[in-house]
Amino acid sequence: MCLVATKLKTTKQKQPSILILGAGPTGLGAAYRLQELGHKNFLILEKNKFVGGLATSFTDKNGFTWDIGGHVIHSHYKYFDQVFNKHILLHSYTLQREAWVWLYKKFIPYPFQYNLHYLPQKIQNECIEGLKNLKKNIAKLKSKERKSKSFLDWILENFGKGIANHFLIPQNIKTWGYPLENLNYSWIGDRVAQINLKRTLKNIAEKKDDIAWGPNNLFHFPKKRGTRFIWEKIAKTIPKEKIQINNKVEKINREKKYVQTANGQKYFYDSLITSIPLTKLLKKSKHPLTKKAQKNLVSSQVTIVGLGVKGKTLKKLKTKCWMYFPEKNIPFFRATVFSNYSKNNVPDHKNQWSLMLEISQTKNTNFNNIGKLIDQVIDGAIQTKLIKNKNEVISTWKHTEKLAYPTPTISRDLVIDNILKTLQKEQIYSRGRFGAWKYEVGNMDHSFMQGVEAVDNILNDKKEVTIWKPNQVNG
Ligand SMILES: Cc1cc2nc3c(=O)[nH]c(=O)nc-3n(C[C@H](O)[C@H](O)[C@H](O)COP(=O)(O)OP(=O)(O)OC[C@H]3O[C@@H](n4cnc5c(N)ncnc54)[C@H](O)[C@@H]3O)c2cc1C
Repeated sequence: MCLVATKLKTTKQKQPSILILGAGPTGLGAAYRLQELGHKNFLILEKNKFVGGLATSFTDKNGFTWDIGGHVIHSHYKYFDQVFNKHILLHSYTLQREAWVWLYKKFIPYPFQYNLHYLPQKIQNECIEGLKNLKKNIAKLKSKERKSKSFLDWILENFGKGIANHFLIPQNIKTWGYPLENLNYSWIGDRVAQINLKRTLKNIAEKKDDIAWGPNNLFHFPKKRGTRFIWEKIAKTIPKEKIQINNKVEKINREKKYVQTANGQKYFYDSLITSIPLTKLLKKSKHPLTKKAQKNLVSSQVTIVGLGVKGKTLKKLKTKCWMYFPEKNIPFFRATVFSNYSKNNVPDHKNQWSLMLEISQTKNTNFNNIGKLIDQVIDGAIQTKLIKNKNEVISTWKHTEKLAYPTPTISRDLVIDNILKTLQKEQIYSRGRFGAWKYEVGNMDHSFMQGVEAVDNILNDKKEVTIWKPNQVNG
């Protein structure tokens, strides 16, 4: 038994021992709150040599910085804002969100549905017709108690066939890597701009670009070190000895309430807050719900390809943040002009810029051949006019994250709350992006707050909102 474990035990009379697994936003959120409340009896165990989890960044051998997919903060919480403003804001740039869609050899401002005047006339007509039919159908459907069953139904019922077939269906199949009939739509909240036919028609008539939408109109991004900076800075507010990096948890003994790490040490707890992927947590604790979880919880892998490019950022890309690519022949579903987030994401911003491209990989997707992926991505970038030719690329970077998107499937909804509640009865709080497997509350702000709220529940019996009422938080 190791020293820390003994310490946790001996102080048990004074303060319950809280063990935290994972030093990503969830674990750091829990630790931050514990610190704030003056609770000293806690410890984080982290398998990586660094903090931040998926919300981290890497600098490649040529000096270009990359995130695991462009991380944009759009907070849903006052508490998170206060923490961010206190520790990070001064060290960040503030940017205007500008998202676009590449379709029919053109960039169309996002939200797509408000900028249909960019489309070829025939496609534009199909989209408008779909929207008009929708208006009629909604009246009919209302009488039969309209209720979408799947994400696919939701798209068709809310956007009509034209927008669905030309953009939303292909884009989402490519992003998620699963049939949309299998997905629920509870995760949508404020993530997808809803339709407003009047606004759509007015924009067409006036040929007006309409890009101001959504929760993340303005966002902040660290000036240096990418997203990694945020979580390293938060980790610095926590005493060093409270975070053990490079210490992988292998076993969890639920009866005796301890976890065992790869080096054989045991760490006892009164309450466990864990952000380890739920399926792995159940397996490591030999839980009877393991098979049920493995059967019903699915995810997608994402490979991120970074292209460091020489020269000046193309004029058309200068203000763009990210772009969607629904077309099947292009490998990536999204591209981010990462050098626009911070000039320090490239070693020499006057003569270089950078593009970060994301490829979703499940058994249903086409681009699973990792070996050739960089070449395929460069070809895709040329086809979509992001770069002119191969010779402009002076640095490439590739990172594959096996568990990237916790897929919000209908089958997940049948089991997830039951699994989480069963664990909680044993004082195990499985929280965060893959800890709770809830994409709808799986962003950095949500994850941080899941950690904060778990602590408030353990110490002050305060109800957790994020995990049990995602709609309320995203509302
Ligand atoms: C492609 C992509 C794009 C994203 N874009 C955005 C965005 O734009 N905005 C946004 O807010 N969020 C974004 N996110 C989500 C963001 O990364 C997550 O919200 C956040 O990282 C989740 O934090 P977490 O602590 O719950 O989980 P993680 O970050 O996964 O942290 C879990 C930690 O547990 C550790 N761990 C796992 N197993 C063990 C073990 N056995 N023993 C010890 N430690 C272990 C891991 O090493 C990790 O550090 C994106 C994610 C991805 C993948």
